[in-house]
Amino acid sequence: MRSKIRNLIDNSNSILLLTHQNPDGDAIGSVLGMYHYLLSINKSVDMVILDIPKVFNFLPSIDRIVDTTDKEYDLGIVVDCANRERISQKEDLLSRCKNTICIDHHISNTKYCDVNYIEGSISSCSQVIYYLLKDFGVSFNKEMGESLISGVLTDTNGFAINTVDSQTFNMAAEINDLGIDIHALYDKLLCKKTMSQYKLMQIGMDRLEFLCDGKIAFTYILKEDFDKVCAVLGEHEGIVDISRNIEGVEVSIFIREDDGWTVSLRSTGVVDVSKVANAIGGGGHVMAAGGKLSGTLEETKERIINETKKVMLLK
Ligand code: 5GP
Ligand code: MN
Repeated sequence: MRSKIRNLIDNSNSILLLTHQNPDGDAIGSVLGMYHYLLSINKSVDMVILDIPKVFNFLPSIDRIVDTTDKEYDLGIVVDCANRERISQKEDLLSRCKNTICIDHHISNTKYCDVNYIEGSISSCSQVIYYLLKDFGVSFNKEMGESLISGVLTDTNGFAINTVDSQTFNMAAEINDLGIDIHALYDKLLCKKTMSQYKLMQIGMDRLEFLCDGKIAFTYILKEDFDKVCAVLGEHEGIVDISRNIEGVEVSIFIREDDGWTVSLRSTGVVDVSKVANAIGGGGHVMAAGGKLSGTLEETKERIINETKKVMLLK
């Protein structure tokens, strides 16, 4: 499989990189990591991702990412995206690529490319890419290191989830030795909050409810809240994690109004929230999952709480 990927890359000149909608740090870090690798072997590379949260603006070459393309490509590589429908794009770009590769870490991946390299037990797609490139014998430059470790930091919430393994720490050590300041990245990506992010968090915390003897925490943010505190795309990040960390909570549910409702689920590891996400047509991992719902606030709240209770075998 790894040599197949290597051959496809070697035999392609023009390459398009894609990832999932509502891109997070792992999606963007994976794309940028691949981008810097492909540039280092003199490929012609385009990256298409929509709606990038501004917290990632400092990452190397993020300004090269575009909204769309009308070109055709020898190869399309989709990273960190479980299914074709979830690709961040305005129109179907994968069909403009002669060959396609998917590199991912979602067990639920639907294997929608010609070659599908899926490592379902690894905590971030950035880690999957790091070890794939290492297997190719790549010598990593700072741009590749900074991009990929940013993906690891964000998808593992700072090495805090239970799928972090010795390979994750080895990768971090090796990237540290490239001269990348991982502490500074941790601070920028996971600690620092903008004032509007803080205010949004305050609204979310004011509405926090505990259900089922405090095992489930639920809160929500409306579109109008974003306007009220002048928040921009992505500034809701972190709300779902605060309630997950409260004593007694096993599942934290956060829903955000957009063109319907975007659902974020987090667990302490006791409950597999990917099962809840699957029940609503979404996906994810044991400790972090999500999906989409439509309906009124009340309907959506009832539906997601009921699906969670079913998985937790609660009445
Ligand atoms: P978040 O709550 O950070 O938006 O998403 C957590 C995780 O859930 C993501 O890393 C992703 O794996 C998964 N996820 C979120 N939304 C969806 C969705 O609509 N479909 C699928 N398949 N997975 C999702
Ligand atoms: Mn990921």
